[in-house]
Amino acid sequence: MNYYSLNRKAPDTSFEQAVIKGLAPDRGLYFPKEITTLPASFFKDIDSKTNTEIAFEAIKQFISPEIPENTLKTIIEETLAFDFPVVKLSDSISTLELFHGPTMAFKDVGARFMARCLGYFNQNNTNDVTVLVATSGDTGGAVANGFLGVKGVNVVILYPSGKVSAIQEKQLTTLGQNITALEVDGVFDDCQDMVKKAFLDESITSQMQLTSANSINVARWLPQLFYFIFAYKQLHKHHDEIVFSIPSGNFGNICAGMMAQQLGLPIQHFIASNNANNVVTNYLKTKNYSPKPSVQTLSNAMDVGNPSNFVRIQEIYNNDFETLKQNLSSFSYTDDDTKAALLEIYERYNYIADPHGAVGYLGCKDYLKTHKNAHCVFLETAHPTKFLDVVEEVIQTKVDLPPQIKAVMDKTKVATKISDYEDLKAYLLKTI
Ligand SMILES: *Cc1c(COP(=O)(O)O)cnc(C)c1O
Repeated sequence: MNYYSLNRKAPDTSFEQAVIKGLAPDRGLYFPKEITTLPASFFKDIDSKTNTEIAFEAIKQFISPEIPENTLKTIIEETLAFDFPVVKLSDSISTLELFHGPTMAFKDVGARFMARCLGYFNQNNTNDVTVLVATSGDTGGAVANGFLGVKGVNVVILYPSGKVSAIQEKQLTTLGQNITALEVDGVFDDCQDMVKKAFLDESITSQMQLTSANSINVARWLPQLFYFIFAYKQLHKHHDEIVFSIPSGNFGNICAGMMAQQLGLPIQHFIASNNANNVVTNYLKTKNYSPKPSVQTLSNAMDVGNPSNFVRIQEIYNNDFETLKQNLSSFSYTDDDTKAALLEIYERYNYIADPHGAVGYLGCKDYLKTHKNAHCVFLETAHPTKFLDVVEEVIQTKVDLPPQIKAVMDKTKVATKISDYEDLKAYLLKTI
């Protein structure tokens, strides 16, 4: 499959080159040239298919022929080595748990898939690729874990000092091997800006092959469309009108859901649930898209002031505001709302959510007020223990640490502090 740049000032490129480059030379995000709806039989026979079969059929068109089908099957099988259960809370609300992977965040799937694609493309290459990634919380751990030990690939992670949870920090600073963490004196947007700048800096790119592992990268972004089909498989017999509420930051996950809808998955509506970083909520209200600096919240993986993937969403709906509005609602919530939701979910349904899932739950509640027949699925994007302090304080109950988390807590953090772009550049050039 070929990809084009959404800035439309760069040549089309293959899946392989889109994965290796991350961002197009004109700074645009890559987008597939064609989207072919899956045959009706795919949805009719869905109950008899395994997750691997579903994922393979759904994503094949975007990957072939650069990765042979048998290799792609293996990559998918390894990527999806855990469960994606839907848990029903009530007749109108369910949650799709996306936290059963090794770092207990939904980003595990994208990171594992991308790492394996890049490993495949780089297997005969003598020069290492450097994956440069900015994280607002969960990306770093998932990418670090997904790429750990992949031959020919080095990973450099930038994270905002003091703005990720203790467990998140451990997950991205304790792995060693081909993984390095840079602790940035700044906020997530500073990290993301530095990463974008490095990609355009010829004094770096002439000497080393850089790529991104943010949802900018098509191999990180597209496999997220699986989740929506997995949820559909579990719910379609009981519910006709399925809507998804997605706790959104960079809007990669929700945009992948929209790709699943383009493939023919009968999703009635999307809800972008935001914390106080509400650029998209405001856009849908005012038709005015105005990015602003991010503010820190309890759902820190969504503290994004200028969501990268929103241009892809605009592309999917042909830049037509009205079409977009028919498919997408958006609500924004404060930290107090989030805490109240955590408590409500616990008391009403005996379910422990994390702050991101809680924001998603609130989106469901608001949407259901005017759509009584819908069944709303909010995505649980991280395990609650990754945000232990706030969750335990709000529900006044001890939460057990799962084994994946226990394993990192006693390890020693190793990170290099940097404060600006010149520090990053000096660091990268030193590694050559
Ligand atoms: C990354 C992340 C999000 C936001 O996902 P986007 O694809 O950036 O919108 C939400 N919740 C958690 C826990 C995350 O790690």
